[in-house]
Amino acid sequence: MSNSEEAFAEAKKVIPGGVNSPARAFSAVDNEPIFIEAGKGSKVYDIEDNEYLDYVGSWGPMILGYNHPQIVESLQGQVKKGTSFGAPTQVETELAELIIDAVDSIAKVRMVNSGTEATMSALRLARGYTGRDKIVKLEGCYHGHGDSLLVEAGSGVTTLGISGSSGVPNDIASETIVAPYNDLEALEKIFNKYQDEIAAVILEPVTGNMGVIEPHDEYLENLRKMTADNDILLIFDEVMTGFRLSYGGAQELYEVEPDITTLGKIIGGGLPVGAYGGKKEIMEYVAPEGPVYQAGTLSGNPLAMKAGAETLKLLKQSDVYASLEEKGAYLAEGFRNNIESLGIKAQISRVGSMFSIFFTDTEVVDYQTAQTSNTDVFAAYFNQMLKQGIYLPPSQFEANFISNAHTEDELKATIEANYLALKKVK
Ligand code: PLP
Repeated sequence: MSNSEEAFAEAKKVIPGGVNSPARAFSAVDNEPIFIEAGKGSKVYDIEDNEYLDYVGSWGPMILGYNHPQIVESLQGQVKKGTSFGAPTQVETELAELIIDAVDSIAKVRMVNSGTEATMSALRLARGYTGRDKIVKLEGCYHGHGDSLLVEAGSGVTTLGISGSSGVPNDIASETIVAPYNDLEALEKIFNKYQDEIAAVILEPVTGNMGVIEPHDEYLENLRKMTADNDILLIFDEVMTGFRLSYGGAQELYEVEPDITTLGKIIGGGLPVGAYGGKKEIMEYVAPEGPVYQAGTLSGNPLAMKAGAETLKLLKQSDVYASLEEKGAYLAEGFRNNIESLGIKAQISRVGSMFSIFFTDTEVVDYQTAQTSNTDVFAAYFNQMLKQGIYLPPSQFEANFISNAHTEDELKATIEANYLALKKVK
């Protein structure tokens, strides 16, 4: 296979849209995907050996950069012992202990294979525990592709311009109530209307899937109080923010404890994984301890557990979060200076090492305001950055990720590329 164009044409013959996850298709940026051959540190290399400075980070997991030597080594050690047994292994306990040690609100945790599975299972648990069926989700938050959660979802769903998915039964979608992010009044009205019917509110505490949006001051604290007052469980979907915004996730950063937390991405160190955990009395509802059934042939897979445990140990040892905050602040300031000096209608939204650029002068605080961003300008910007060897998530409605492997020189080069790209799309 000589180049990405040919590789994509081949892939399209055998894989729907040529990709195994819609957001990878580059359709929102009027382009075709590059086919990756390898990654090292902050860079990825395509099948023609072109080098790209990367801000996708495999959509979040690669916080330590690609191909980290210690993670590779621990995986090699595990491969020699066996890749899957479908029986308990000690590395599952090790990763569970690391998670529980890091995230105060988690007393017990169950491993699954993806973020989607984690959120689906968390909803079932919330419903089983409360005996209620309705779920409140927030517009523009994406929690994977489970039936209950593909309603006004972000990420690829927003990128493709659809409000849900064909194939989701109305009976299921109708149990999901949607409210705007950052709006407690709207939630209060919903709580009053459906008081004894709501099992849980699920949200991304900091959103990444409609672009990065920060919670308003005290939004999460008040949400915690309102849900507790109404006996409604609070689920933080920290698949993206867990071990990303701090070692204890968004809940540590904002000092708010949910009842259930979902995790994924970083806790698998780049291998397929997900997890859900929470208070002891809630987790005891999960089979075989309790009546809520959830299982998996490959759950707790030793390779994924090894890569995850090694990643968390590396994150715990170092001052990576202070360094990521510095890098994020430096990049955001550089971008903001470019926007200002060129007089562009754009804003940078950032929390720690997650950031987005929105091409609008409306302040972005929720799904509606995120959608005021000019996606044509975004597409042009994306392609200008790609031409300069900078690989960004190919959609306005995604988060960019900085890794510990990004160097100051690389960030500086990114700010320069950002200036030239913005100048072109002006
Ligand atoms: N929840 C959040 C916040 C996510 O960002 C994602 C994926 O991007 C998911 C859930 C779904 O995870 P997965 O793609 O591993 O199924």
